[in-house]
Amino acid sequence: MRLKEEQEITEVAEALAHFEGFLRRRGLKVTKTRLLIAERALSMPGHFSATELWGALREQGASVATVYRTLELLAEAGLVRRCILAGTSGAIYEPYLGRRRHHGHLVCRNCGRVIEFRSQDLEEGLRRTAEAHGFCLEEAVIQGIGLCRQCRESLG
Ligand SMILES: [Zn+2]
Ligand SMILES: [Zn+2]
Repeated sequence: MRLKEEQEITEVAEALAHFEGFLRRRGLKVTKTRLLIAERALSMPGHFSATELWGALREQGASVATVYRTLELLAEAGLVRRCILAGTSGAIYEPYLGRRRHHGHLVCRNCGRVIEFRSQDLEEGLRRTAEAHGFCLEEAVIQGIGLCRQCRESLG
């Protein structure tokens, strides 16, 4: 699941199958709870925290620790991305499938709003820069921090 070996997973079902394989290769149990958490995480429309995901799964009785652990595994499997966003406390996650893999973030340092944008040019520039340094780029994380339109207006 690297930019290099572009074998893109775009469907949740496909991602779940990939996750199962990943768990087996790691010698980890493929439990119903893990798959349920994975399915819910991969179906989230945008960024979410582990607590939000846990809230969405509360009726299924998943513990918050299991939710965290499963998110970490999904990140290691390359199916979910852990984003460090300015102005947010704790990790924010997002599904990392298909077109969603290729976007950057503009983060408002005042209200925490996240604006997503396509970043092909920036990604390409980063790739070229990496190459020039003999660096093997595995993942591009493109993020800008500043003030959103609403905050600029209200802060004058
Ligand atoms: Zn703002
Ligand atoms: Zn995003």
